[in-house]
Amino acid sequence: MAAYWFLFHQGNILLTDKGTIPLSKEIPFPNIEESNIFHLPDVEERSCYAATLETPITESCYKMIPLRASFEMLPSILYRMAAKSYELLYWNANTNYCGACGALMKRHTEISKICSCCGKEIWPSASAAIIVAITRGHEILLVQSKKFRGNYFGLVAGFVETGETLEECVHREVMEETGITIKKLKYFSSQAWPYPFNIMIGFTAEYAHGDLQLQRSELNAGGWYKLNNLPEIPEKVSLARQLIDAVKNDICHQ
Ligand SMILES: [Zn+2]
Repeated sequence: MAAYWFLFHQGNILLTDKGTIPLSKEIPFPNIEESNIFHLPDVEERSCYAATLETPITESCYKMIPLRASFEMLPSILYRMAAKSYELLYWNANTNYCGACGALMKRHTEISKICSCCGKEIWPSASAAIIVAITRGHEILLVQSKKFRGNYFGLVAGFVETGETLEECVHREVMEETGITIKKLKYFSSQAWPYPFNIMIGFTAEYAHGDLQLQRSELNAGGWYKLNNLPEIPEKVSLARQLIDAVKNDICHQ
């Protein structure tokens, strides 16, 4: 049976002109180095492979689109495998040399590398980040980070620091970015976020105390927005959007 090939060039994924993942029994293009192919878990009993393309494919029966845009086109199971592929390839491209002794790293297993000199073994490890939807009655706290690529408003989020629990991270990020305290912190769900290599852990919480004081070094804007009259919010691909939709659904239907 033909295998799925998850092929990337500079953050863009290769799809057929019909918007599907290419299928092939063999390595589908000559510019794929065999030693850089990753064998992934099967999807629907088909083998899956990930690899980086040295040059983009320009044939008219294919198109290369940003991974994020493929969310709207691919079935969920294939988008998630594409996300996993991208993370593995990103990790592979960024771990050519040993962090301890500087020698070349070589592939050891499908998901590990080993140093050719000191024997240090490494595995892909995503950076953990929290994201939190904070409500106050029928309002939600939305912020516009300077890092957002667009004019939309999202949620308070940030990377987990060393020695910190997820809950401590949420309280710290909320205080740093907005100056308020929160209560009723509750886990929502998590999401692999391959931009480039994070795991997002989502929470909901309620406003407790304090006046909003935005961290101007991180945020362009922010404030309390009525859930039935929101500004532009993040795309459906994101956990931020899933959180906003979920609290809106909960609170507007109470
Ligand atoms: Zn080493």
